[in-house]
Amino acid sequence: WLLTMKRSQAIQRVARRNRQREGAMAATAAESLGAIKTVQALSLGDTFADTFAQANNKSMKEGVQAKRLTAGLERMVDVLIAIATALVLWFGARLVLVNELTPGELLVFVFYLRRAFRPMRDFAKYTARLAKASAAGERVLELLEQEPGVQELPDAVIAPDFKGGVAFHQVTHGYEDGRAVLHDIDLVMTPGERVAITGPSGSGKSTLASLLLRLYDPQQGKVTIDGIDIRQFTLESLRARIAIVLQDSLLFATTVRDNITAGTPGISDSQIEAAARLANAHDFITSLPEGYETPIGERGVTLSNGQRQRIAIARAAIHQSPILILDEPTTGLDHANELEVAVALERLAAGRTTLLITHRPEMAARADHVVFMRHGRIAAQGTHRSLMAGNADYACLFGQTGGREMQRIGEDAHAVIS
Ligand code: ATP
Repeated sequence: WLLTMKRSQAIQRVARRNRQREGAMAATAAESLGAIKTVQALSLGDTFADTFAQANNKSMKEGVQAKRLTAGLERMVDVLIAIATALVLWFGARLVLVNELTPGELLVFVFYLRRAFRPMRDFAKYTARLAKASAAGERVLELLEQEPGVQELPDAVIAPDFKGGVAFHQVTHGYEDGRAVLHDIDLVMTPGERVAITGPSGSGKSTLASLLLRLYDPQQGKVTIDGIDIRQFTLESLRARIAIVLQDSLLFATTVRDNITAGTPGISDSQIEAAARLANAHDFITSLPEGYETPIGERGVTLSNGQRQRIAIARAAIHQSPILILDEPTTGLDHANELEVAVALERLAAGRTTLLITHRPEMAARADHVVFMRHGRIAAQGTHRSLMAGNADYACLFGQTGGREMQRIGEDAHAVIS
């Protein structure tokens, strides 16, 4: 028993290391295959293959080590049992020789002994297996015990139909302790208002949108919709009432129709078509081989970035959400595509409270209100025209001196260039 316990700890240690390495290998494989274009473009194929092969080699050695320890344990238990049986036989034979025991009694005793030893051998065998299983179990538990950063309150209620008044009250937030990326943000958006958030890269624009979607809870302050703290609502109902279009919208490897409905049942064909028309997407969808039933993705058709964006806009349109988040939705599109997407976004935003994160002066110019952020604070706000006239940094970012490229260089470079 002592031997088994001692060995099982060693087996568990090796199995744990082995499982961790297998996790890292799976991550390398997923990362390199997921970004295969970048890997090929940067000629990183061999580097990734080497990393994987090395990890694979180590994993194999650990696997062999675990097997060796397991086999060693079973062998040692077998040897112990053999020694014990030999001792009993030797002692028993002496008793038979002095007529204190009959040969039959000795045989029966040895037979019972062997039966008693069988569970011991099994114990050694299963302890080794259990040690390996518990190392794997630890990894599963690690995952299951992850606490989501955002927790629903026990008395959270289903969000009602919002009018669309959004407000940030003294919001301070950071991803790491002691390093806030948003400081004391106060922002009020009236229902139906279109607010553009602009500012250099890293100034906290996307973080603001994440807080509204409650992907994170602010460290200080609160975000309200129609005057109610969004922490009062269940996460699902809150997010269902906010539509979103991101810079690089993710489409799923399913049909165009399912991508537009995003799996929501009970949406009629006419609603889907209306959403696609609003998104300027109906015409190109009907020209696809199977129209709305065309599969997208690896085994289906490949769409251009502009077409993907327009499907994402149709998806956002279908839910009739009163609040809309647009995070640089036209970035990376060529002029023709950008125009089509911009028209679709105009229609989508009509009547919805819209938080538009943008680097494009034309889009900011069409917003009712523009918020200019720097270093996680609201540096200035007003209309595009008033900011262009009254804020040198804003004017610099949006075209007078540095042009559109400047914000991509980031805040530090911005200061140097200025
Ligand atoms: P960009 O215009 O480049 O998209 P942004 O203004 O939207 O930038 P955010 O994405 O909000 O800026 O990032 C603000 C800061 O927070 C940056 O310093 C960034 O490194 C940091 N940050 C953003 N997301 C995370 C995260 N998930 N974990 C840790 N830090 C983060």
